[in-house]
Amino acid sequence: MNCPETKKNMADWLFAPIPEEGRKHIAECAGCAEALASMEKTWKLLDEWQAPEPSAFFDARLYARLRREREEAPAGLFERAKAWILYRSNLHMRPLAAGAMATLLVVGGGTFALLDQPAAPVAQASATVRDLQSYDGNAQLFQQLNALDGDEDSATSASN
Ligand SMILES: [Zn+2]
Repeated sequence: MNCPETKKNMADWLFAPIPEEGRKHIAECAGCAEALASMEKTWKLLDEWQAPEPSAFFDARLYARLRREREEAPAGLFERAKAWILYRSNLHMRPLAAGAMATLLVVGGGTFALLDQPAAPVAQASATVRDLQSYDGNAQLFQQLNALDGDEDSATSASN
């Protein structure tokens, strides 16, 4: 038995007695002996390995996350369509739904391609400009409130 043959059969020797010719090669070949020893060691470690227990808070965190997910704003149309195809649609409807999705993608993609023309750079209003705009809005609001107050005053003075 040569090295490639030995290495090819090595995994089987973990679960069954090593055949005579295999044992002979292992005894003569340091490389294969080392490879077999390493494989046995790995297998032993895997045997000893135990899946870790989830933490005590796992359930609480999971339910909190589910609740948050439920409370969040509904996903966009595309996401909902995808989820519907993946999880809700009946199996026999899937090819149809997938076809509809593909059409949507092609049409939608085309639209996006048309929309994706480089637009003129949008001037970003500076913070100062935005502040002034909001002051302007507030000033208008105050003027309207003053006007209302004035009306009320004149109304009360007229009644007196
Ligand atoms: Zn060998």
